[in-house]
Amino acid sequence: MDGITKLPALFGSMVFNEETMKEHLSAASYNAWKKCITDGTSLDISTANEIAEAMKQWAVEKGVTHFTHWFQPMTGVTAEKHDSFITPAGGGKIIMEFSGKELVRGEPDASSFPSGGLRATFEARGYTAWDPTVFAFIKEGSLCIPTVFCSYSGHALDKKTPLLRSMDEMSRQAIRILRLFGDTQTRRVTAQVGPEQEYFLVDKELYNRRKDLRMCGRTLFGARPPRGQELEDHYFGAIRPRVSAYMKDLDETLWTLGVLSKTKHNEVAPSQHEMAPIFTDANTACDHNQLAMEMMKKVADRHGLVCLLHEKPFAGVNGSGKHDNWSLGTDTGKNLFKPGSTPSQNARFLLFLAAFIKGVDEYQDFLRATVAFAGNDHRLGAQEAPPAVLSIFLGDELNGVVESIIHGTAYQEAGKRTLEIGVDVLPAIPQDNTDRNRTSPMAFTGNKFEFRMLGSSQSISGPNIAMNTIMAEELKQFADELEGSSDFQADLQKLIRRVFTQHQRIIFNGNGYDEAWLREAERRGLANLASTADALPAYTAEKNVKLFVDHGIYTREEINARAEIHIENYVTVISIEANTMIDMIRHDILPAVSGFGEELCRRAERKATAGVSNRYETDTAREVGRLTDELLAACEDLETAMGRRPGGSREAMVYCHDVVLPIMARARAAADRLEALTDARCWPFPTYADLLFSV
Ligand code: ADP
Ligand code: MG
Repeated sequence: MDGITKLPALFGSMVFNEETMKEHLSAASYNAWKKCITDGTSLDISTANEIAEAMKQWAVEKGVTHFTHWFQPMTGVTAEKHDSFITPAGGGKIIMEFSGKELVRGEPDASSFPSGGLRATFEARGYTAWDPTVFAFIKEGSLCIPTVFCSYSGHALDKKTPLLRSMDEMSRQAIRILRLFGDTQTRRVTAQVGPEQEYFLVDKELYNRRKDLRMCGRTLFGARPPRGQELEDHYFGAIRPRVSAYMKDLDETLWTLGVLSKTKHNEVAPSQHEMAPIFTDANTACDHNQLAMEMMKKVADRHGLVCLLHEKPFAGVNGSGKHDNWSLGTDTGKNLFKPGSTPSQNARFLLFLAAFIKGVDEYQDFLRATVAFAGNDHRLGAQEAPPAVLSIFLGDELNGVVESIIHGTAYQEAGKRTLEIGVDVLPAIPQDNTDRNRTSPMAFTGNKFEFRMLGSSQSISGPNIAMNTIMAEELKQFADELEGSSDFQADLQKLIRRVFTQHQRIIFNGNGYDEAWLREAERRGLANLASTADALPAYTAEKNVKLFVDHGIYTREEINARAEIHIENYVTVISIEANTMIDMIRHDILPAVSGFGEELCRRAERKATAGVSNRYETDTAREVGRLTDELLAACEDLETAMGRRPGGSREAMVYCHDVVLPIMARARAAADRLEALTDARCWPFPTYADLLFSV
């Protein structure tokens, strides 16, 4: 591709975007769509018919034969069901048709998607409804219509519905605050999100020989390779040709789909990489991150590679996360988390900052729960990702401002004076481009917050729903308090000072990997929910349920159902891992090491007969025999434990964490020591060195 001339034409070429709509729609229909986006008005059926017809014509010209509603059920991946455009036209012929009705509504069977009990209580049928706020696109010969997915009784069964609800609610409350500052122009405040996505690439042929990678997405066994990430030469290192070809193909694929893929580089671990797009509104960012994850896997396949999105494919080297960069933007082009250059802008900034600090402190347990699942348990708190304790990093400058407001002391930059909110200009707060505190779970980076606890495989929807809703709640409280004020400046100043003082405990600017921080966090009363089993109960803590119900984001049934789905998912993932482990031990490892032990004995005997020293054979055979017994015992214990798994989902979750995982760790330890002793020709699958340095 000749990038300079072709990229702008290539970008979005498979997207029915605003430009394309302008070209293909009548002015009346285009305006109706536009009004629907900006004012939330609904589209009448004749407009829907015209849009559907235009979409079909555009798609058919590109060789498209099918359409599908494209949605995000609670599986964490997207779902699609393709229908062709064909309609019989008599005489054995067909014509291509796509109606407004087919565009706006679909009726997929909901009974095979996770519903967390909603299905039993309500109805099996579900429906999908067009989300006109994001663009339709063409993927693999099908016109994809992004939709929400609900039950017939209107309960959300997907990740998009509550995200849209939370975006609307946050906007409503933020506008109330903006009006207090005399802003009469802004009509919409939108969460802006840029998710950085980490991933591993391994050779497909090697991958296919690892049952654990195929079944679980991560290795369950693997002795430490002679070299891991110690040389620290991979991060930002030169990209090898095979990876480079993959990244180029991925970029081009994403660009045609309108995904703003911007940054690519090598990550810390060998064969680990990152892709970051330019930020967009949260809804688009979420759709695009789902698309990016799907394409990362598909493009890898074309290159004889497999893309691993699991949080911890390999023990002993860094795992993969996803950084959710989040800010609030107005439709008038302002970023509400940008410290401004006028006194009024700064008062506004400090108020939004106060809302954020208060919200993260009050709902730290829920935020933690939004990133709680089996894969992420390997990362959080493991000194390669943030600890499981939520805290906010502000940086020295902003922290200085907060301190001076709390204590009423002079801010150093401001000279002798104390900082008067709404009167003084804040000192310049530099943008943190250098990522100087990688250990913080929630870092202020100049004009946005970076939520760093997300796992690489997860949908970004859940954490963003939480941040939007928490923000809505705090802004609502502030608006309720300030709207009745007779002295806005004075009351604003008081409120900000009070909130900073009451919630200062959530601010931490030090090293999050430090043992001392965990003790300090405990002293401050911050929640340390170390594992998924510890964190998921927070999902349905009464204050959290109340938050989401009060703001109309979830009904009580919906949030309970979601908690249930997350719990069931944890139990299922651990069970699959345990069963895969048993399978590999019984079918691969035990036969291999038993054969190796026997061969050593035969060799030892022959050597003894010949009067040759056989210390290697006898010592190794003895150790292999001992470890084989250990492995067998662990395997038997695991089989027994799996047989006794309790039925209730919450009990099963705790049981998996407390009983199953420790036995799995024992089995792995024995197997990894066996691998280190065994003749490479006898070991039944590719090693860490093979996998990590294969590409
Ligand atoms: P780093 O690795 O240094 O954190 P990256 O460039 O990899 O930075 O990623 C930063 C991400 O933050 C990008 O997706 C970028 O588009 C996004 N971003 C930048 N500004 C904002 C903003 N105001 N709101 C939300 N996201 C933003
Ligand atoms: Mg980055």
